[in-house]
Amino acid sequence: MKWRRALVSRCEPNAAHLMLVEIGSYFDYFWLITQNVDGLHTRAGSKQVLELHGNMRGGRCLRDGVDLPQTPLASLPPYHSCGTALRPHVVQFGETSESATITAAITASAHADLFIVIATSAVVSPARDLPLIALKNGVTVIEINRDPTP
Ligand SMILES: [Zn+2]
Repeated sequence: MKWRRALVSRCEPNAAHLMLVEIGSYFDYFWLITQNVDGLHTRAGSKQVLELHGNMRGGRCLRDGVDLPQTPLASLPPYHSCGTALRPHVVQFGETSESATITAAITASAHADLFIVIATSAVVSPARDLPLIALKNGVTVIEINRDPTP
């Protein structure tokens, strides 16, 4: 994880991240729902970001369950103030996303005026379910992908 964090820290938001910031600026309510864990949407300037799979810059205390938005890596593993090791604040294979984040994403999807899906395989739940929730609630859905999705 330290290697990945170092790698991502050298990355800058790209044109797609910046385009989404601009699109968001045209709306009073604009939720950006992402499976990315690199934090680049927030670094680009997006304000309301729901990170379904967490954020690799954060940590979670294994004892207290406390989520820390950003963890320093003075040691490996990093430790919480209680002395317990922190795990990365990302969803691992076999785990589920935080329920509060999922609930917020479902609510935003169901009540949207427009739902735009960009660059996803649309096979990983819960992200794949969100455009379907939007469709069931009469929301217009636009999918922008290089390849067809199920
Ligand atoms: Zn702790």
